[in-house]
Amino acid sequence: MSARLRLANKVTIVTGAGSGIGLETSLQFAAEGARVVLSDINEAAVTAAAKLVAERFPTSEAIAVKCDVSKEADIKNLVDTAVAKFGRLDVLFNNAGIMHPADDDAVATEEKIWDLTQAINVKGVWWGCKYAVLAMRNNKADAALGLGIGGSVINVASFVAKLGAATPQLAYTASKGAVLAMTRELAMIHAREGIRFNSLCPGPIRTPLLMDFLNTPEKLNRRMIHNPMGRFGEAVEQAKAVVFLASDDSSYVNGTDFMVDGGLHACYVTSE
Ligand code: NAD
Repeated sequence: MSARLRLANKVTIVTGAGSGIGLETSLQFAAEGARVVLSDINEAAVTAAAKLVAERFPTSEAIAVKCDVSKEADIKNLVDTAVAKFGRLDVLFNNAGIMHPADDDAVATEEKIWDLTQAINVKGVWWGCKYAVLAMRNNKADAALGLGIGGSVINVASFVAKLGAATPQLAYTASKGAVLAMTRELAMIHAREGIRFNSLCPGPIRTPLLMDFLNTPEKLNRRMIHNPMGRFGEAVEQAKAVVFLASDDSSYVNGTDFMVDGGLHACYVTSE
């Protein structure tokens, strides 16, 4: 007898699905039986990502929607599209985020870099939460499809929201701290509606966002020595944690700062 897929029939949205963690999570969601709405500001990337999901999982249902998370109208359209196509929304993975190359310390960071970072990394998460709550409040239990009321929202923060670093990216770090605080409060406010909110705190992951920034051996090694496991993480390792938070396996997990960082947040000095 085959085991039931962990996200069978769940309607899911992934923001920033054109690359890195969002792309891997879209693939894992489809592998676990979810219906997936992939979205990204980069239309070509998200179209290619949805095509890849369809190729790898021919029986899956995946669509691509262009969406800039910093624009309320785009997020509303994204959630409306998901509900119009699939009838409900069970999971939102608020993953889209930027780490701007001109993000620096308190003196050098320009106001426009600060504002852009907060607009995408914080306001974008808020818009997503707002429209997810409005949609998830309408969810009725469906025994035939194995779907319940409420839903699960996973907001992407970062290990830098928990740890300071001597290589400053002040706007980014502040934005991710805001995601943690916002997510905790949402988790409490909506707990009795059955809508769970958790933050994912990835450690340093081998995706374009980080690797484009660590573009010299010196920059790379400066970080590597702090990794207890002696390597950066892989996007798929985040995706598997997101599947847990999205699924009913985590039905009593709410308001957490879910660390997936190879133990980095717990370390003082590594063995090498
Ligand atoms: P990535 O750069 O590989 O992918 C990010 C995706 O978001 C891209 O496809 C990009 O087009 C999209 N995007 C950017 N701005 C957008 C907007 N305004 N609206 C919609 N989509 C937009 O990055 P990643 O490493 O996969 O990062 C995903 C998330 O994980 C981010 O929130 C990031 O801050 C977080 N994170 C990453 C790391 C890491 O080491 N890579 C560590 C901690 C947290």
